[in-house]
Amino acid sequence: MFKKGGQEVLSEMDQSSYSKDRVKIVLNEKNMPTHWYNICSDLPTPLAPPLNPGTGEPIGPEDLAPLFPMKLIMQEVSTDKLIEIPDEVRDIYRQWRPTPLYRARRLEKALDTPAKIYYKYEGVSPSGSHKPNTAVAQAYYNKEEGVKKLTTETGAGQWGSALAFAGALFGLEVDVYMVKISFDQKPYRKALMESYGARCVASPSKETESGKSILASNPKSTGSLGIAISEAVEMAAQRDDTKYALGSVLNHVLLHQTIIGQESMKQLEIAGDEPDVIVGCTGGGSNFAGISFPYLGKNLRGESNIKFLAVEPANCPSLTKGKFAYDFGDTGKLTPLVKMHTLGSSFVPPGFHAGGLRYHGMSPLVSHLVNEGYIEATSFNQIECFDAGVMFAKAEGILPAPEANHAVKGAISEALLAKEAGESKVILFNLCGHGNFDMQAYTDYFGGNLIDEKYDESEVAMALANLPSVST
Ligand SMILES: *Cc1c(COP(=O)(O)O)cnc(C)c1O
Repeated sequence: MFKKGGQEVLSEMDQSSYSKDRVKIVLNEKNMPTHWYNICSDLPTPLAPPLNPGTGEPIGPEDLAPLFPMKLIMQEVSTDKLIEIPDEVRDIYRQWRPTPLYRARRLEKALDTPAKIYYKYEGVSPSGSHKPNTAVAQAYYNKEEGVKKLTTETGAGQWGSALAFAGALFGLEVDVYMVKISFDQKPYRKALMESYGARCVASPSKETESGKSILASNPKSTGSLGIAISEAVEMAAQRDDTKYALGSVLNHVLLHQTIIGQESMKQLEIAGDEPDVIVGCTGGGSNFAGISFPYLGKNLRGESNIKFLAVEPANCPSLTKGKFAYDFGDTGKLTPLVKMHTLGSSFVPPGFHAGGLRYHGMSPLVSHLVNEGYIEATSFNQIECFDAGVMFAKAEGILPAPEANHAVKGAISEALLAKEAGESKVILFNLCGHGNFDMQAYTDYFGGNLIDEKYDESEVAMALANLPSVST
């Protein structure tokens, strides 16, 4: 450790990047975290266990074995504080990690706010988002267990691309079921997945019983993540050499993303700042957890008092309008029951552009922490999020993914609150991906063709009325 300007900095290399007017805070590769942080070790009250839908009893590791390799299942149920990142995974991470942390000085100026705004940029990964942090780890553990093929779902295509990339590195076949509306909106994502050697199919498809039954009742279905998950799970469950990979929601996925927050911590230390507010967008909760959980652990241990803000789309508002209850993770009811904020597994959200946020549920860990009051949640409409994203692009040059626009909007709102109050707050948000494959969304926005379509409240009410009954 070295000292400069009263601040402890991390190494000689990092010290050289320290300057008072810094905009980009680079972390030396030597200081890339060696472990993932498991927030389950710091929870004041334990998570409700996943249940077998048939018996209502908690499931055991062996129940998940047809779908996931044992090392990932053990991470799913672990309460160890730190879990070592395998060397092979760290070697691959080094291609783009540590990712940069930026101070958004020009955005601060545009907003005329006394707040400092920092953003961690995960769009520098090969596929353009935070998703490879877990895709690479999941492909590694599957390969180690002798798996030949992975099946998965994808919304906007970020997860499908990330898993396709990871599959190419480890020589695994990858089949991706892509939500129909996004499949049509973002054709270049399919081409990227194919470039990595994966197969990409629009969901609902005729390849699975789950897909066929949805198409039978609604041939024009736009699809949903819940439906695509059913298709991928169904295919994986049928074959011994095939397993399933999920891009969000599960504990082990959130665990792998904690490298984001741990790096941010070191980088803000170099900058000499402590965050007052941390903001992220939430689809299944993984990028939000990634940047938040290492800091949230400090709150849980009584070492800090940071505000955490999860931002979701107003037309798929699981955290702000859903019910905290046991539900299926998929529409076809093939998964175990998990306790989470849910809009009901049969709910199909309107076809807005932030495809990665169109999930009926939320990660059990994020749901639990919202329910216990450690995380606040809010929602915004699509057009105001694009307004924020375009303002950000003009100031900072990076065009955010439509999902990430929700985090940008949340951070700008916090900066404007600080301005009203005349407070110099430090705001940190996760810029979880770039929008370079989402230009149709921006074309629609500039053409005035985006609408803030309201979700169907009666459909949610019906989906919630049909929640599985659990005697707890
Ligand atoms: C997948 C994705 C999301 C939503 O998933 P989380 O698990 O909530 O992070 C958000 N932003 C981007 C860029 C994504 O690719």
